[in-house]
Amino acid sequence: MKVNIGSAYYPEDWDNERIEYDAFLMEEAGVNVVRIGEFAWSRMEPEEGVYNFQWLHDTCDILEKHHVNIIMCTPCATAPAWLCKKYPEIMRLKADGHRGTFGTRQHTCSSSVTYRHYAHQISAKMAEELKGHKNIVAWQLDNEIGHSSMGNCHCPECQNNFRKFLKEKYGTIQALNKAWGTIFWSQEYSSWEEVELGYVGQKYDSTRVLDSLLFWSKVYVDYALIQADGIRKHIPDAKIGTNNLSGLIDRYDMYRKLDFAGVDFYPRPNMEKMARVCYYSDLYRAILPGKAPWILESATCPGSPDRNLLRFFMWNFIARGHETICYFHWRSHLSGYEKNHDTILNYTGKPRGRYHELARSIKEADTILKKYDLPLPEVETAVVLDYKDHWNYCQGFWERWKEYEAMNCLAHEILMKNGINSDIISSDDDFSKYKLVVIPQMSHFRKEVAEKIRKYVEKGGTVLLGGKSGIFDGNAKFIPQAGPEHLQDVFGISIEGYYPLSTPEVLDAFEPREIHDGGDIAVTGKLNGKKIMGQPSNHVMEIDSMGAESLLTHDRGLLKGTPYCTENRFGKGYAFYFASTYLDKKTYKELLLHIAKKAKVKTVILPEEVEMISRGELTFVLNHNNKEVSFDTDVKGKCILGDFLKDGKFTLPAREVCIVDTKAKTAKKK
Ligand SMILES: [Zn+2]
Repeated sequence: MKVNIGSAYYPEDWDNERIEYDAFLMEEAGVNVVRIGEFAWSRMEPEEGVYNFQWLHDTCDILEKHHVNIIMCTPCATAPAWLCKKYPEIMRLKADGHRGTFGTRQHTCSSSVTYRHYAHQISAKMAEELKGHKNIVAWQLDNEIGHSSMGNCHCPECQNNFRKFLKEKYGTIQALNKAWGTIFWSQEYSSWEEVELGYVGQKYDSTRVLDSLLFWSKVYVDYALIQADGIRKHIPDAKIGTNNLSGLIDRYDMYRKLDFAGVDFYPRPNMEKMARVCYYSDLYRAILPGKAPWILESATCPGSPDRNLLRFFMWNFIARGHETICYFHWRSHLSGYEKNHDTILNYTGKPRGRYHELARSIKEADTILKKYDLPLPEVETAVVLDYKDHWNYCQGFWERWKEYEAMNCLAHEILMKNGINSDIISSDDDFSKYKLVVIPQMSHFRKEVAEKIRKYVEKGGTVLLGGKSGIFDGNAKFIPQAGPEHLQDVFGISIEGYYPLSTPEVLDAFEPREIHDGGDIAVTGKLNGKKIMGQPSNHVMEIDSMGAESLLTHDRGLLKGTPYCTENRFGKGYAFYFASTYLDKKTYKELLLHIAKKAKVKTVILPEEVEMISRGELTFVLNHNNKEVSFDTDVKGKCILGDFLKDGKFTLPAREVCIVDTKAKTAKKK
């Protein structure tokens, strides 16, 4: 197999002579793919209806001569000046009423009919013009949709479209009032015209915020698909994806209508935590099941004297399943906002250290991988991330937004650090291929999801559920009964209410607190054979057992003696629950290990910041530390990269990788 490795490239900056030299350098380095065109609308269509594609034709030809393939991008993130001037109403309007101006990017409205018309037109025109170039192997829609620094658009057209969206959903204004629960604080509407978009942070009107998020997610998906439609008009079988969608978009909804899932990921040199690097790969790998994810932008790791970092993260991406890796970007722009960005060639355009590191890394990857045809990593565990439920739970509060992410990332991190790799999946996905499914939070159980969980556990699956799960309806309102809705018998509990404890101001998803300072409750019991004193925080649920065994019990306060963490045998499987929206890392770890054992998922004792994952016969071990680590292992086989496995022990230097072919026999000792 071969992983495609290259970079973003901006030929609009350079003349053909320079492009020829760049293409030569790319071929010399083994670069076989570049991503071009994403911000070049004004060069493709300098005036309305006046097109200039000659420079792109020339670029494609030159790159083809040097065996470099192309991911061609639609340029719709940067509307040209003539378009913004002619139609000022397409400019994005911030929630505070401030209208975006020309001179940045993502400054136009994604639901504007006018803007969509032009976005479709330029996408179609590009495809029509460029369809003959055989080295265009894929298309990228727009750039980082949903990441506008202006936030979501609140222009009159968006407001009207939002009302249309609500009319379709609810039918009558009375039904909307009922669904949103607007009787509270006299928020009832008497006509559609009174309804306006909300935004995250506007916590006084939770269901309005939820519907606004659902509306915008759909807007962005439709907006992207309009560009895809333009391309497919002329290239019906074009391979189309997009890069790095914002978490304000349901990524499953978008990517599952496309051909590949692309992520932009910039490891931070010398301070990157393994958990963050691997989380995004595991998420994007599972977004399109069975299809390898692509890195469409990654750091060339500047500002670090460690010349090994680009190579190190390249192997991390390959180990986690990526089939294409593009660095950002080839050569520094001489002008513009991104001119200070790190690159492979600096502003002089000379091949120096980073270029040579890239060339060495590609050569190494090609040499190792050519003998193998590796499947994607096969994992036994999944962590559920459901965007719509995330928004249903968050209800306009940023703290809850962060809390949901923190518990999700933390579950993934703890599992990985104990040798259990997981997919990040949607609640709509097939659970049956996993031994263990972790659902840190699921505010509302749609009937079909609840039914799936029931059958999964009945047939022998193991589920861990946490927090305020199954106590809301799909409109962010409490259900007037005990939870978890539809699943009380499966979990053997009833959730009767909750106590809000003090809430931290910020919960960074990747650096969660060990223990909440203001915590004033404790739960005790035994997990994984160890005595535990855990500290739940944020919101703690009051639960009654309906047959479930209590693993951890409240040992003080109002809830003294009541269960906190429960285990219930149901059918052939197990259903576990922990009754808080946040839990200290130590206890969460013991809980997950206890459950993994029940689910018969193999754990591996790994040192901190050491990653181990297998693809087919190859096992990849990466030391993310800045120092050497050594540990015993039962991995056997032949080291095909990094001779760091000897006598049942890995000894890896800082930021090093070892790949073991577990089917190959080790060389006999002399
Ligand atoms: Zn708008």
